[in-house]
This record gives sequence, structure tokens and C-alpha cells, in this order.
Amino acid sequence: MIKRQPGRSFVLVILLVLFAVQIGAQEKLDLQMVQRIRREGLENSQIADLLIYLCDVHAPRLPASPQYVKAGEWVVAKAKELGLANAQMEPYGTFGRSWELQKFYAAMTSPQYLPLIGYPKAWTPGTNGVVKGNPVLISVRTAAELEKYKGKLKGAIVMTQGPQDLPISFEPGASRLSDEDLRKLELAPEPAARSPYSARMAEMAAQQQLQQAVSKFLQAEGAAVVLEPSRGGKDGTVFVASGGSRMKGAAMPLPSVVLAIEHYNRIARILQKNIPVEIEVEVQARFTEDDLPGTNVIAEIPGVDKKLKSEVVMLGGHFDTWHSGTGATDDGAGCAVALEAVRILKAIGVQPRRTIRLALWDAEEQAFVGSRGYVTNHFYDRVKKEKKPEYDKLSAYFNLDNGSGKVRGIYAQGNSAAAPIFAAWLEPVRDLGAATVTLRNTGGTDHLPFDGVGLPGFQFIQDVLEYNTLTHHSNMDVYDHLSRGDLMQAATVMAWFVYNAAMREEMLPRKFFDPNAPGMQRIRN
Ligand SMILES: [Zn+2]
Repeated sequence: MIKRQPGRSFVLVILLVLFAVQIGAQEKLDLQMVQRIRREGLENSQIADLLIYLCDVHAPRLPASPQYVKAGEWVVAKAKELGLANAQMEPYGTFGRSWELQKFYAAMTSPQYLPLIGYPKAWTPGTNGVVKGNPVLISVRTAAELEKYKGKLKGAIVMTQGPQDLPISFEPGASRLSDEDLRKLELAPEPAARSPYSARMAEMAAQQQLQQAVSKFLQAEGAAVVLEPSRGGKDGTVFVASGGSRMKGAAMPLPSVVLAIEHYNRIARILQKNIPVEIEVEVQARFTEDDLPGTNVIAEIPGVDKKLKSEVVMLGGHFDTWHSGTGATDDGAGCAVALEAVRILKAIGVQPRRTIRLALWDAEEQAFVGSRGYVTNHFYDRVKKEKKPEYDKLSAYFNLDNGSGKVRGIYAQGNSAAAPIFAAWLEPVRDLGAATVTLRNTGGTDHLPFDGVGLPGFQFIQDVLEYNTLTHHSNMDVYDHLSRGDLMQAATVMAWFVYNAAMREEMLPRKFFDPNAPGMQRIRN
């Protein structure tokens, strides 16, 4: 083992910094243009208007649903109004069956009346009219313990867990990245910290297995509807995603409803005192026909340089949302910012050398179905390991999908050749709070299908705000939890990045791509 000499890494850091500065210095920056972009983005912003249409009027947007299609048509019309070219809903392949919530009602009717805050899980069926009854609380630690409920659950309203702890939190609900957080991001993580395995993950896997066994048992016993507590959340916040499959022909789960933790707990505590409770629940949900075609929303500012206009710089976010809120921070914000960024460039009359292409993706929440389909159709088929002609024409894809917080910098996604270029681009927007380049990867969103086939796909670093505590996949993911000021900043920085990528002499450098490497990582949506 070689003992590390403390002085050496310091020298290396200095050399790297000098190297970065030197490469950065070669970036030609149009400082008049950055002023114009800033003025249009910060003083003439249209972001609030875009957000109302995307997060109030045309939301939520479950993939391939009628609302999704209508919202896409609105964006296409808006893009045309802004003077963008080739605006269209572009098919990427089949999505599967879509799902729509049409009606939901739940209440405790005895021993007291209480209208319940809750939401059905997506891709679960409706109840057969109003289900009334005494809920049965089943509490098991192992699958074997389910035996004692055998024959007792036909037509029952079932609660799958006992009351949940809801400790008071003394942490602030919203946060920004501190200087210290950003400094840590700039440094590569310790190799030991990268291990994906932890005791917590093993515990989660065991929990998941038990839940699957419970679901199977309840289905076999013919329960009528399942009630669950929201996993996390308080003050009536319900975190809820899917409870079934989008795949054609997949088995239908039981009707399943997630309740706000405070309401779920009240019912559970009364039941534990052996006092009967009466509940009524009605869910009406509609599965649309099998194997619907899926579409991404696309629009362009065509390039004007004879040599470079066939090359493309892309930007976007995901257009699909979950159903309990309106997907305002996930990812209406990213879509509005990307649309606003191209609006800014168009409004100040930018004539880009390369073509700028906006893409709002479908079905990111189902593991990037829309962006994966797009990458396969346009750039690289991972199954056939086949490169398409456009593969050599994409300079970069810039994604925004971490909520409503302003941009603090960018994840260079391990691309050490692109990092110093980004550092140079950030200089004139440093005072807006965007200054950090990290070589680290970030997962869980639509830049991954690009990155996974060796194309430069990047996600911006954003302030967290209330994303993790309140809005991400919850009924509180609505317009009121958006920070319009942060999103004006984000659109301004995004427009500046896209402008630079569209104008610079070369496309952005790529990192080494091994087509035989294992698939894309997925951390969270
Ligand atoms: Zn998202």
C-alpha cells in the first residue's frame, strides 16, 4: 500500500484548477448576449403565465391520458405562437394502458363523521359503487401470520398497518443548498461512500416483500378495498404513486387508497380499542385501451449556420405527472422553465448556429419511457447496439427536474472535458447563485437515457426548497408551492447554457462510451 503524501493532492488540485481556468479561458463568451438573456428572463419573464397553464389548467398529466394529450396540444399551439418551428407531439412507441381517476370519496361515518383526506393509487381499479363496512385492521410481521385472517376478508375494507409514528419535526420544511453543501458537491465522493448496499436497503426490500405477500393474500381472499397510510407526509399531505401496472394484460390489483397519516391513524387507534368503525369509500377509475401510443412534445428554433444547423442542442423536462397534485414541482416547473428558456432566446431574436430543440418527455415516472423511446428512435438502439445517423449530431441535452429551486450549477455527469466549459459559462451568472460544477452523476431523470448511450446529457443542480419534505409525488405538488423567482432564474441560466452550446465552435466533448457497460442507474424520479 502506498502512503499518500499530503502535499501531492494539493498540488494536483492546483494543477487541475489551472487546467480548468485555461480551458475555460478559451470559451468565447458573448457578454452582451448574457445581459440581454438576463433582462428578458428576469425583467420580462412569462414563467408565471406558463406555470398557470401547465400546473392549473392542463394538469395533472398521467402518461397517454386524454389530459396529457390536451396539454400537449396546448404546448404545441403555444410553441407556434412563440414562433418556434416543427412543434408537434412526436410518437415514441407504445406506452401501455393509461389510467384516469374519475371520482373519489371516503369518510368515516361512525363513531363520528370525518371526511377522509386520501387519494386512490394510480393504475388501481374503481370500487363497485360505494363500499360500506367495518374496516379490518390486519397487522402482520411475517407472511405466515396472514393465515389467521383466512376466510375473514371477503368484501372487506382492509387496513394494512397499525398506526404510524408521526414525530414532530424541528427541521425547516424548506432549504437551500449551503456554501458547504455546494463545496462538498464539487469534490468527488469518497470511494467508500459509493457502496449501494446498506442495512436500510435490506430492511426496505424485506418490507416490500411482505407488502407483496399481503397484496396477494388480500386479492385471493376477495377484499373490496385496501386503505394504507401515506408513507411520510403530515398536515394532510398524501404521497401516492402507482399501485398497478401499465402493461397490457397485467393482472388487476385491488382498489387501493392512500390516506393522510393523521386520518389513517385516528381510525387505526379507535380499532385498536375494539370500538367498531364504519367507513364508506367510492372510487371510479378508468383504464384506457391497451397499448396506447405515447408521445413527447417537441419544438425547435432552427439553426442558421450552413455547416452546423444539422447539429442539435436539446433541453427539456418531463411532461407527465402523478395524479394527486398537479405535478407543479415534478416536473411542471422543468417544462415551464425549458419553454421559457426558448421563449427568451426567441424573444431577443437569437439566430442559433445549431438547432435548439425543446423536448417535454412522457412517462418519466415509469422509468423514462418517453425519453428512452426518443433516444432509441433518434440516436442509439441499446438492444441492437446500433447507432443512428443523428447520434453524431447531438451536442448536448440539458434537463431540469429537481423541483422549483433555482439553478446552483450543473452535474457534469463524469464528463471531465465538459466540466471546465461549464465553469466558464457559469462565470457571468455566478451572482445569480449558479456557480458550481460537479463531476458527480445524478440519477433518476431523463438525462440518463442520453448518458447511458454516451451522449452528453446533463441535469442542473437545484436548491431543494420543499421538494423532499412536501411536494415530490404528493397532493401538495401544486402551483402555490412553486417559487416563481427561482424559476425565472432557472430559465435565464438554462437559456444561457443552451445559447452557448448552440453557438460555440465545437459540439460539447463526450466521455468514453462502452456499449457493453451495464444499464442506466436509477435513483429517483
Ligand atoms: Zn420528476
